[in-house]
Amino acid sequence: MSGAPIRTTCPYCGVGCGVLATPDGAGGVAIAGDPEHPANFGRLCSKGSALGQTVGLDGRLLAPRIDGAEAGWDTALDLIATRIGAAIETRGPESVAIYGSGQMLTEDYYVANKLMKGFIGAANIDTNSRLCMASSVAGHRRAFGSDTVPGTYEDLEEADLVVLVGSNLAWCHPVLYQRLAAAKAARPALRVVTVDPRRTATTDLADLHLPLRADTDVALFNALLAEIARRGAVDADYLAAHVAGFDAALDAARATDAAVTGLAAEDLAAFLDLWIGTERVVTVYSQGVNQSAAGTDKVNAIINCHLATGRIGRPGMGPFSVTGQPNAMGGREVGGLSNMLAAHLDLENPTHRFLVGQFWNAPRLAATPGLKAVDLFRACGRGEIEVLWIIGTNPVVSLPEADAVAEAMGRVPLVIVSDMFATTDTARRAHVLLPALGWGEKSGTVTNSERRVSRQRPFLPAPGEARPDWWALAEVGRRLGHAEAFAYESPAEIFREYAALSALAAAEGRDFDISALVEADYDAMPPAQWPVGGPARFFAGGGFFTPDRKGRMIAVAQAAPEARAPRFPFTLNTGRVRDQWHTMTRTGRSSRLGQHISEPFAEINPEDAGALGIGAADLVEVTSPHGTALLRALVTDRVLPGDVFVPMHWSGEFAARARVDALVPAVVDPHSGQPASKMGRVALRRH
Ligand code: SF4
Repeated sequence: MSGAPIRTTCPYCGVGCGVLATPDGAGGVAIAGDPEHPANFGRLCSKGSALGQTVGLDGRLLAPRIDGAEAGWDTALDLIATRIGAAIETRGPESVAIYGSGQMLTEDYYVANKLMKGFIGAANIDTNSRLCMASSVAGHRRAFGSDTVPGTYEDLEEADLVVLVGSNLAWCHPVLYQRLAAAKAARPALRVVTVDPRRTATTDLADLHLPLRADTDVALFNALLAEIARRGAVDADYLAAHVAGFDAALDAARATDAAVTGLAAEDLAAFLDLWIGTERVVTVYSQGVNQSAAGTDKVNAIINCHLATGRIGRPGMGPFSVTGQPNAMGGREVGGLSNMLAAHLDLENPTHRFLVGQFWNAPRLAATPGLKAVDLFRACGRGEIEVLWIIGTNPVVSLPEADAVAEAMGRVPLVIVSDMFATTDTARRAHVLLPALGWGEKSGTVTNSERRVSRQRPFLPAPGEARPDWWALAEVGRRLGHAEAFAYESPAEIFREYAALSALAAAEGRDFDISALVEADYDAMPPAQWPVGGPARFFAGGGFFTPDRKGRMIAVAQAAPEARAPRFPFTLNTGRVRDQWHTMTRTGRSSRLGQHISEPFAEINPEDAGALGIGAADLVEVTSPHGTALLRALVTDRVLPGDVFVPMHWSGEFAARARVDALVPAVVDPHSGQPASKMGRVALRRH
């Protein structure tokens, strides 16, 4: 393959930028932004523009392996199907589990879910999206009755106020940040507020920065709701027609003491004035909100303020969650979490279960939610899982209490890992390794943070014996005796089936509808926002997906701040750096990207560094009850005294003692099951 540029989509963050990839015919590729893609209009960030440096065969897994020895696909697939069949027979379908990824394409996700929930017969399929957006999903479902993102990227440009909560947009969603920065440059009246304990690159754009104490976002937005009511700024007509739960939410808000945020009174007052006094306001939120034991409550505290003022679903107005991963949204749509069904149908709803079971002609559709990520690996540790299939993710680096995750995998009799590389911390623990296609080789669709479905198209040949994930999953389905249900020959066939299911979901009154794409030429399909052919935004005129079609304000309370344990007096905040992605399995291969920040570090406030005798660039041990990491000290007032920030990316493959998620406790939000990855307790010591 060489010559004309191929239109495809970036495989990193949830902005979902369009990419023009021009292969050189010798395995390399020139990369440019796609000027016609509505997410980026030609822009790319540093990671996207370095994509050409991350393709190639270096270190690739090129054939299946069983216990370290190369094996043919038939041997590997026969073994997997036999062992899954035996596990179902002897210990029940719950003894089988799949742990996937927001990197999977929608078609891979669809087949994995169909196999697990419809034909193996348990809902033990969860993904690393649980670490990313599960609290947004739970918050959306509580407020809207569905996991619906109401707005679009244009809203950030059309707003008069953009509030960024727990979001370092400049580094984590750079092209969306570029769009916002360009809009502000063109129209300086557009105000930006950042809400983050840490000063980040995004703060440079802000008119106001609120360095609130970690995990006090509910108190901030409850203070806002109480003040909205006090000033008579509620939209009484919208509330009466479209919203339930206002009184209880307001009572909870009034009972909250905003002092817990630690914000200066004048900063808090300035924020309340700005938010209440600006009609066109978008509140953007990301992992600082989601990755918390109170993540779902934080999401609802934000949505409450938009529902109370009717500022939702109109240009430049609304709550807006930006997703971390390229296909976290597609995974949510396809039911890629253990408590969901495909096409935004609900696993708990008997009508929805019947509809999906009939559509798939499934012999044993799962009747109850399966294990969420943290619980899934705990079940592995208890010896309850016989077969675990991990696809496109690296949980030995990215899950909290990552050392315990590694140990738990050791108690599973058959661990299968589908990946491009055999060298990741997770792949090294597999019994069966399956060679997967990577970006530029595989074909399918992804959905970005504004509900836009785009194609990832191949422009490189499949290396060695690498195959698409959907193919391996379907082959196992066929070997389990379900030849007709898994008779797919191409991702286009899978997509058409999925789009047809979305038509049934829409007829049931659900939000997700891509049925207009059923007849589309899959290869030529342009980026399309769903509902395809419908309005770009939701809820300006109500129409929520609850039984009474009203949105719900949720009464949420701010938890009392946890007392700092004397042995672990610092709060550990984890996050991303600009030029790396997840556990660096791709970006770690680009020397250019490595130049931005070349080693793992711990940001420590000068006050704390001074008290502990830690100097700039010293090596420092960061220790929690679960593990220790060795990191370079970065002494900076960007973090508050008492806080430490450590990037999440470095794995055992790239730095022997820097897996920070080994330190993070496996504490989860009670509604979403999302881990509190920004709230560890640690001690610091100069090495
Ligand atoms: Fe890729 Fe995100 Fe950068 Fe766009 S902003 S080029 S999707 S990493």
